[in-house]
Amino acid sequence: MSIHSRVAIVTGAAKGIGRAIALRLARDGLNVVVNDLPKMRNELEDVTSEISAFKQQGLAVCGDVSNENEMKSLIASSVEKFGSLDVIKSSFKMISNAGIALTQPLIETYKSDSTMVVAPTEDWDRINKVNARGTFLAYKYAAIQMIKQGRGGRIVGASSIAGKQGFPEWGPYVASKFAVRGLTQTAAIELQKHGITVNAYCPGPVATQLLLDIAAHREAHGRGETPIPDWKPVEVDDIAGLVSFLVKEETKNITGQSFNVNAGALFD
Ligand code: NAD
Repeated sequence: MSIHSRVAIVTGAAKGIGRAIALRLARDGLNVVVNDLPKMRNELEDVTSEISAFKQQGLAVCGDVSNENEMKSLIASSVEKFGSLDVIKSSFKMISNAGIALTQPLIETYKSDSTMVVAPTEDWDRINKVNARGTFLAYKYAAIQMIKQGRGGRIVGASSIAGKQGFPEWGPYVASKFAVRGLTQTAAIELQKHGITVNAYCPGPVATQLLLDIAAHREAHGRGETPIPDWKPVEVDDIAGLVSFLVKEETKNITGQSFNVNAGALFD
């Protein structure tokens, strides 16, 4: 292990945006710890093989980002694999990418029989547990480790265009992505004195499993097309490129920002 080795942790990295970020950071010369749910172990192992093609080391650590002990284990495994605090010269990076989504109007009245259907509160809990609580845990335990190392750090979270404005039928998801932006701003202010930057990406629609799953669920329940704006889709590598920039050492004064990746469809 070189004393110059750099390490990034990417959550939700078995596929989609997280996988693209992990491979981009490996291409940039970082060792990468990839995390995802246990059911994604095989896909996660495949990503570590792809990382080694860039002559970097990968480590797959399964765990649920919303589980406090599993988040602690993710950090501990990363430190164990990539050396003690003393041998990692550069600051490490946390990319809190894992997230889930669903669509459900708050209240839906079926015209045929006037039956009122309301959004299950469990949906709110499920979404916010992964997207908001998971981000909180990732930021918290990454920051603890970075402060112990005393060399600053880079934290990047996954918000969305849905973290910038409301979209019909996306209530719990929108709330969770606003939470990510709020936490990003607050953590940025609090952690600035430790040389830690905290930023977020806000993609427009990206053709990943997340959107495919929503479309399939809506179709199975006769709910029509997914209500997303008719904007030019963006690609996973667009987001990976942004993250590649945000984790660089020279971005030390770029913090608390939420960057749109949406082909100019939204300017907030
Ligand atoms: P995806 O479904 O393709 O991938 C998400 C990954 O996260 C999956 O591999 C999944 O298994 C993992 N994951 C889910 N819950 C987890 C948990 N509790 N712990 C660990 N891993 C977990 O989704 P994606 O499109 O790549 O989305 C990545 C992030 O980008 C999400 O936070 C999402 O909300 C956000 N985002 C996506 C879009 C889009 O249009 N796809 C747009 C804006 C923001």
